[in-house]
Amino acid sequence: MEAPTDLQVIGSELALRWPDGGESFFSLEQIRRHCPCAACCGEPGLTRPVPAQTSSLTAESFRLRGMQRVGGYGIQPTWEDGHGTGIYSWEYLKKIGAQMGSDER
Ligand SMILES: [Zn+2]
Repeated sequence: MEAPTDLQVIGSELALRWPDGGESFFSLEQIRRHCPCAACCGEPGLTRPVPAQTSSLTAESFRLRGMQRVGGYGIQPTWEDGHGTGIYSWEYLKKIGAQMGSDER
């Protein structure tokens, strides 16, 4: 999976342009709700004393404090509520972008 040729945060949206010319737009809220880290998603079947923390998301959870590129692999955003362990691969972003595109139909 190639890295996007362009990646921009515009207001509360993240815009990605792919090498094939396609574009994906996400709201930061969508990005956060799709956080792939173990604390947010956890793997089904594992015993977890506490439910995933998605229930305690606040407005701050959807504001970006910063974002790091992770090699050529993806991005790791840090959120205003201090959360920052989710690494979003390009592949994963493209996948959730496609899912949301199909929701519009
Ligand atoms: Zn997470």
